[in-house]
Amino acid sequence: MKALHQTPSDDRMKREARLLKEGRKKYIRELNKQLQQLRHWTGDAEPEDTSETARRFYRIVHTLKGSAPMFGFTRIGALAEKLVGHWEWSQDEEAVASPAVRVRFRQCSQASLALVLELELEIDTIARELEPDEQQEQLQRTLTPPQGERLLVIDDDDVLRAYLVRRLKLDGYEVDEAADVSSAQRLIRERSYDLISLDLMMHPGSGYELFEFLKEDPNLKLVPLIVLSGRSDVYDKVRCFYLGADDYVVKPFQYEELAARIYSLLKRTKTFEQMAFRDPLTGVYNRRYFDHQIQVELQRVARYPGTISMVFIDIDRFKSINDTYGHPIGDLVLQGLAHLLQANLRATDLIARFGGEEFVVVLPGTSAADAKKTIEGILRLTHQGPVAQNEGQSFHITFSAGVSEWQPDLTLSEWIRRADDAMYEAKQSGRNRVMLYTGDAAGTETDAAARKTVLIADDDNILRSILMAKLKHLPIDFKEAADGEEAYLELLGGPVDLCILDGVMPGLDGYGVLERMRERGTRPPHTKVLVLSGRSREEDTSRGMQLGANAYMHKPFSMVELELKVKELLELS
Ligand code: GH3
Ligand code: MG
Ligand code: MG
Repeated sequence: MKALHQTPSDDRMKREARLLKEGRKKYIRELNKQLQQLRHWTGDAEPEDTSETARRFYRIVHTLKGSAPMFGFTRIGALAEKLVGHWEWSQDEEAVASPAVRVRFRQCSQASLALVLELELEIDTIARELEPDEQQEQLQRTLTPPQGERLLVIDDDDVLRAYLVRRLKLDGYEVDEAADVSSAQRLIRERSYDLISLDLMMHPGSGYELFEFLKEDPNLKLVPLIVLSGRSDVYDKVRCFYLGADDYVVKPFQYEELAARIYSLLKRTKTFEQMAFRDPLTGVYNRRYFDHQIQVELQRVARYPGTISMVFIDIDRFKSINDTYGHPIGDLVLQGLAHLLQANLRATDLIARFGGEEFVVVLPGTSAADAKKTIEGILRLTHQGPVAQNEGQSFHITFSAGVSEWQPDLTLSEWIRRADDAMYEAKQSGRNRVMLYTGDAAGTETDAAARKTVLIADDDNILRSILMAKLKHLPIDFKEAADGEEAYLELLGGPVDLCILDGVMPGLDGYGVLERMRERGTRPPHTKVLVLSGRSREEDTSRGMQLGANAYMHKPFSMVELELKVKELLELS
């Protein structure tokens, strides 16, 4: 015996859902036929038997009113109900027999036209949702699907707008809608759009008003704009194009046409953007885009006050990478760093190549302290792995970065200067670090001036460690070099206050370094040199002095003596 209390199994529910869907499809197909009838009767042609046609019209919409909601099509039901109201008189024998029936019929069919058109839109939308057109589907599959592009549909026609929004969402776009000029303006201020479709004739406020609004804003004037208009006269078209519209579509239009225009406009814009605003080597934004976008960000922060920070990032000793491995490897490294930044920053952060090996990042909604943490995280990644690889060889880099948070009343150039200053300070303090801008006289410069940079050039790495340990209580940032070549590059690469230089090293030794700087005239003017030597011959000492050493010490030396010497040379008390 069958169980009396059946609980619907998953299977059964699925079957029911399928049946319902099948039923809905059939129903909509059927509706389409009836709709053709209604369309025909609301046209200009006069029916032969007016009374009978009125009655049939009534029967169709009456049935519709009852059946559509059963399949969940409540809007169709509501539209049908309104139509029923128009044709109720056809049920009155006297009315259909009256000589005025023709006039009445014409009035009613005219009054019904808008409703029937709405029905058509609704049925069309549902049909496409239920059974997307095969050919269309195939074409769609060959196109690049939307990648989170956000569109704004501005139209005061509720039905058309709802229809467009639904279809565009179905096609994969993110879509917002606005029914009038002022709500459109509000949306446009709050978020950015990849494309705007604008109805020209709106009430209150016309589409032309929005044009002005869009074109006076440096950001918005680049947003692709399609005008939808009920007017096809040349005057409007021309005016719109001159005002900056990218396309003009006359109503009524087929959705497919609009969709195709949107698709192509978005694609074209993307290509142009790629060409005009991207750095071809690294794919991040270029300087031109940065200059433009930073204005936009500033306007935004002026309107909606919040935090925003800027970071300058400069690869350390990039020149030596080029010099050692060649320019193509340098390029690879630049791409690697750009990629690292993109992968570890937010989509809303702006990353641009500012120049050569310098990048700038703008982080909206981020304080200087948080920006510093974020960038330090990325700097740690450069310690953990290579930034680029080529034919089995790995390339490591570090960078120096400076952070500056925007403050009210700060000019753009001042803001940039601060980030750049902080970056410069990071370089001064030994590179491979992220520094905050700490204010002019009080912070950055005095601190930077107080700290000294000492380069320890010795092939004995234990001695280098001992020296650093002994001197670390002094305000000194250390750099190291394990041979003469490295020492030479370090000395050229950045300000060094004092170089403790081992006279005897394999390859280019300390004297060699001094000689080379003298020959090539590359001795940095403010760098002092303390030569350490294992040899104690007199001529050795005088040779060092002749080559421009400021002091000389023999190994083994006392650490106390060395510290005193270092303090004296650096003028530290
Ligand atoms: P620092 O740590 O002080 O920043 O030293 P650095 O060597 O990185 O700085 P410097 O500004 O002296 O050198 C930058 C080099 O970057 C010089 C230039 O040849 C190189 N460069 C600039 N643009 C490119 C590029 O597009 N590709 C490559 N491969 N090199 C570039
Ligand atoms: Mg650099
Ligand atoms: Mg540089």
